[in-house]
Amino acid sequence: MRALRLTAWGEPPAPAEVERPVPRGAEVLVRVEATGLCHSDLHVMAAAAGALPYRLPFTLGHEVAGRIAALGPGTDGVRAGDRVVLYGPWGCGTCDRCDAGRDNYCDRRDTLAWHGAGLGRDGGMAEYVLVPSARHLVPIDDLPADQAAPLSDAGLTSYHAVAGLRHALGKGSTTAVIGVGGLGHLAVQILRATTGSRVLAVDVREDALALADRSGADFGTLVRADTARVLKARTGGAGVDAVLDFVGTTQTLELAVGVLRPGGELAVVGSGGGRLAVSKPGVLPPGFRLSLPFWGTRPELAEVVALARSGAIHVETEHFPLSAAPEAIARLRRGRVRGRAVLVPD
Ligand SMILES: [Zn+2]
Ligand SMILES: [Zn+2]
Repeated sequence: MRALRLTAWGEPPAPAEVERPVPRGAEVLVRVEATGLCHSDLHVMAAAAGALPYRLPFTLGHEVAGRIAALGPGTDGVRAGDRVVLYGPWGCGTCDRCDAGRDNYCDRRDTLAWHGAGLGRDGGMAEYVLVPSARHLVPIDDLPADQAAPLSDAGLTSYHAVAGLRHALGKGSTTAVIGVGGLGHLAVQILRATTGSRVLAVDVREDALALADRSGADFGTLVRADTARVLKARTGGAGVDAVLDFVGTTQTLELAVGVLRPGGELAVVGSGGGRLAVSKPGVLPPGFRLSLPFWGTRPELAEVVALARSGAIHVETEHFPLSAAPEAIARLRRGRVRGRAVLVPD
């Protein structure tokens, strides 16, 4: 079968012909219908040798939806023909966290040579993907694959970040979303669907603000020297209750703490490598709380799928055949993808 494989650090992935896997034990073979392309795929491709614990080669792709093609003899709870989305973070499978469906915070994460499907283990940029256990599968029924695949990271990560702030997002609250790309446009929709918060969107691109508007944001503004003042003015001067930073550069972190009201919440989702100095006393808002949410839990993925099936969230996608992955990667790198790029096997 065709697969897009990372074969050398710092080099683009290469198309390859590999053997179609045969499921054994508790494994499940899924025929891929769609796979999302994520910024973290770019980070993995660009990583220096030794920066990640993964062994090469492996097939990329951690946002995967498809149909169960074959089952190992020890599988439980799924049937051939079921349509599913993959829960992408694969932990050790035995610690308390994994047991509770929280592989994203697996206690043994530091000892594993992978972080999940397509992240050190063969993922979904291929015709088939081998899943180690049915516990990593969430049913999608008739949800279109191009909608379901991005839910497993872009949707789930946004949902998990919002869930962690929910106590602060009641009626009358205001949330700022910085960065309205694949994740941010879903965060805007999830905030609208599951919280009482007003949503202010911030980006450097006009078309991203248009996407924020279509996603239900109450207000959008470009990043400029006075963006903090513009946002604060939208809250009557008090500042926002929460900021979801999908960029994570020093510039966006400084903007975030500049617009938060006292007791405000900052969730840094983007891996922009920025730095924020913490000192007390200092310039940070009193009562300010910071979180670094990573991906999400398996129960949350089921909740995101339910939201999508209800019509409350819709992923804006651009489709590419798997054979055109290099073009999709180049477009994403230049910031030229609207919403999420989705690869479909040829
Ligand atoms: Zn991702
Ligand atoms: Zn674990």
